[in-house]
Amino acid sequence: MTSQNNDIYQEIANAVSDETELFRPDTQQYEEAIRHWGKSSSEYALFSVEPGTAEDLAAILCILAAKRVQWAVKSGGHATNRGFSSTSGVQIFMNRFKQITLNKDANKDVKTVTVGTGLTWDEIYDELTPQNLNVVGGRVPGVGVGGLLLGGGYSWLTSQYGLAIDNVKQFEVVLPNGQIKTVTEADNDLWFGLRGGLNNFGIVTVVTLATYPQGQIWGGIKYVDGQDFDALTAAVTNFAQNNQDRRASILPVYSILRAPWETRQGAMLANLMLFYDGAELPAGVFQEFMDLKEVPVLPTDLKTRTFANFVSSIPANNWLQGDRVAFHSLLVPEIRREHVQEIQNIITVRIAALGGRWPFQFTALEVQPFDASLYTYGADSAFPPKRDSPLYPIGIYWSWKDSAEDQYAWDTVRRVADRLRNILPGDESVYVNYALADTPLEAMYGDNVERLHDIRVQYDSSNLMSLTGGFRF
Ligand SMILES: Cc1cc2nc3c(=O)[nH]c(=O)nc-3n(C[C@H](O)[C@H](O)[C@H](O)COP(=O)(O)OP(=O)(O)OC[C@H]3O[C@@H](n4cnc5c(N)ncnc54)[C@H](O)[C@@H]3O)c2cc1C
Repeated sequence: MTSQNNDIYQEIANAVSDETELFRPDTQQYEEAIRHWGKSSSEYALFSVEPGTAEDLAAILCILAAKRVQWAVKSGGHATNRGFSSTSGVQIFMNRFKQITLNKDANKDVKTVTVGTGLTWDEIYDELTPQNLNVVGGRVPGVGVGGLLLGGGYSWLTSQYGLAIDNVKQFEVVLPNGQIKTVTEADNDLWFGLRGGLNNFGIVTVVTLATYPQGQIWGGIKYVDGQDFDALTAAVTNFAQNNQDRRASILPVYSILRAPWETRQGAMLANLMLFYDGAELPAGVFQEFMDLKEVPVLPTDLKTRTFANFVSSIPANNWLQGDRVAFHSLLVPEIRREHVQEIQNIITVRIAALGGRWPFQFTALEVQPFDASLYTYGADSAFPPKRDSPLYPIGIYWSWKDSAEDQYAWDTVRRVADRLRNILPGDESVYVNYALADTPLEAMYGDNVERLHDIRVQYDSSNLMSLTGGFRF
């Protein structure tokens, strides 16, 4: 560490209480602080700091603003863009904000829970499941509260209760000027900006979320053999266009997997995740999916279980068949048969037609059909820019090993998004939490960009947030 960097370390160490700790490289805590789900999202920071209180975090931000030092804040570390929650400067890790407090109303009923942004969603589900309660959050294990929530948050419960941000009652945020502020819907601009505007307005420490009664659910994963993709495509289209049961949710991930256990090079299969919010699956809801042919070596795991058990059973780390990751998306006003068919064609035919020039270990395309009411559960917010009509995410994801292929990965992800977008031209929208780093702000925030810029300038006069990565208004 240079003497200047050592000065910053000392200045922060002197300014904080015993509840906060700093870690130099070569410590286990430092490694944990800079670790990301996809290794390509990590950088070597000067040192890491785990703030233990909002006051300490405020002191840290004031020092970073005064010294103009690069920094980053990490919650669950699932950002798929390098530099968004990683830095070569000071790494802030929200690991100590892990409180889970059930709030009782006058009748002693729990209607909300206050949680720290250092938690992962599955940690919250583990705590709430024994209480027969739930919140609207991430769908697979390991995803952090901080990033998913502040970007929007599609959930297994979105068809019933909207996005994760639609279920926030209150934020506590450390503003860029070091003020610790409680933000509710009475705070027009910050309330608008924090719901979807990610890390533009400071660091959120705790949030209060609506809770819902949660009993046993039915669901899990089935690996559908590529030979049955025609039937899968028909079933997905049928579900997307005709399902009326808001308790039912699906996440079909068409993929090419080059895994060590797989004898065929580039096996085609779909990770089909099915969720029904009820202990018993009503007749007919997923019948077409039940009839699909499964991959023999990968047993189907669909059953009645707790919500926490369901989420923790999803093997999201199988999607990490290389250290490098790219995630992008498009949002479509309706999921047409042509979208699903094109996804199937890309996986089965178009990639093969490239004649071997496909250096990716895991290639995945997913459609996310929710109920058309999905944006009606919340008031105007940074994301989505419009709430009067549905837009459904289509996710595009590759993972690979060799950094020499980075540019090719980003280019091909973008080309695939364009190809799918051309099926129903007219909407350029992208979901901010599945967006390549150079995605234009307008594609994610539409007409909200100007207002969001004004809010950022109002609350970040020192331009502290320009010293960290992410989409900047
Ligand atoms: C395997 C996988 C599954 C996913 N599943 C879903 C899903 O079901 N639904 C969905 O909507 N999205 C999903 N996503 C996308 C996910 O929402 C984003 O990757 C999100 O950024 C992850 O949040 P995090 O806290 O884990 O990430 P981090 O890398 O910690 O943070 C992401 C961004 O948020 C900022 N940030 C984090 N904490 C704070 C804070 N406390 N205050 C201010 N800014 C903060 C960071 O600076 C960074 O810019 C998934 C992604 C992956 C890789």
